[in-house]
Amino acid sequence: MVRLDLMSPTVLLTPDQVTPTTVQGLYVHIPFCFHKCHYCDFYSITRQSRERMDTFVELLLTEASFWQHHRPRPRTVFFGGGTPSLLPLDLMQKLIDGLKKLLDLSGVIEWTVEVNPATSDREYLAMLLGHGVNRLSLGAQSFDPRELQMLERHHHPRDVEQSLRSAIDVGFERLNLDLIYAIPGQTLGSWKRSLEQAISLQTGHLSCYGLTYEPNTPMAVRRRIGEFQPVDESVELQMLRSTRDMLCAHGLPAYEISNYARPGDECLHNLIYWKADNYLGLGPSAASHLEGHRFKNRPHLREWEQGVMNQQLPVIEHERLTPEQRMNERVWLGLRLQEGVRFEDLIRYHVTSDPYDYYRSGLQKLSESGLIEVSNTGFCLTERGIPIADSVVAELLAR
Ligand code: SF4
Repeated sequence: MVRLDLMSPTVLLTPDQVTPTTVQGLYVHIPFCFHKCHYCDFYSITRQSRERMDTFVELLLTEASFWQHHRPRPRTVFFGGGTPSLLPLDLMQKLIDGLKKLLDLSGVIEWTVEVNPATSDREYLAMLLGHGVNRLSLGAQSFDPRELQMLERHHHPRDVEQSLRSAIDVGFERLNLDLIYAIPGQTLGSWKRSLEQAISLQTGHLSCYGLTYEPNTPMAVRRRIGEFQPVDESVELQMLRSTRDMLCAHGLPAYEISNYARPGDECLHNLIYWKADNYLGLGPSAASHLEGHRFKNRPHLREWEQGVMNQQLPVIEHERLTPEQRMNERVWLGLRLQEGVRFEDLIRYHVTSDPYDYYRSGLQKLSESGLIEVSNTGFCLTERGIPIADSVVAELLAR
């Protein structure tokens, strides 16, 4: 992997180096938030002016134009961040219209925008729907005001309900809520209450992630100086188990370790990531994968701007994966899925004609330990393997 830490005129990658290929997903990173939540390590800035946002949209469209001759025709679009709904209405319209002019978005079947419950109103949501967005993802995180405060989230639980009501009123049918468990001070009981409230809102999709202490986030620092005790690992495991049981009982089975959906309402965009398919990312810090070229944009707005203004891909890391690395990546990502990995999905990397044989020793050992289930067609994590997925995958790939 090539990585540059300082802004440099060196061009790491040009679109010509990448063979035009089918791009299944388009990701757009909108790096503006009105406040930094204490657990978050996504790239975003909190002091943004109208002028900065104007420039951002202009340059985002310039970056999209670099890929025009590849004729990307994604099936999914995802606007994440940051807080995409912080872009003023007219700028969001300009961004969507501009992307439609530059790229062929006529085959898009799922277009998601992340929305902060405190920053969405009916007019904005109606505009999104009218412009082809058909799925909203709301960061609810918890329905307990004290837990939201612990995370430094600046919305109230009732904002979530109001935003959902507005979204349904204007015509959105596909909705997701993000929730976080293992928040300091949270008990199994309070987590179950949050889940019950989420279930009662009847969205077709829920994402439930255990809190992670990303290095250098305020949350990690507060933990280090002893401001609070993290939730005990055994309680976190009970939270995961009860999430799987409760949501399955309410018609939202897990289809990925942290994602639950009514059958048919799975997030198609995220499935592209977990199946190691091709996606193009635009905006600061956005990651892309195009047939073994994995690259990441500069995670800094000014540096990203400078790269695009210089008519260069604003890339800070570029890695060319070997066929074997690609196959292994397909395994570790695919094992997150409930359906697991099919042997036939691995043959296309032309590393082996017999993937079972290739991974035989790891598969045998892990299935004897009850962590992986192997069938004639593929393999998946067992209920015991799911909570320790990372170490199971590490063991499998350490051939
Ligand atoms: S709103 Fe989302 S992206 Fe912004 S700081 Fe909070 S968690 Fe991070």
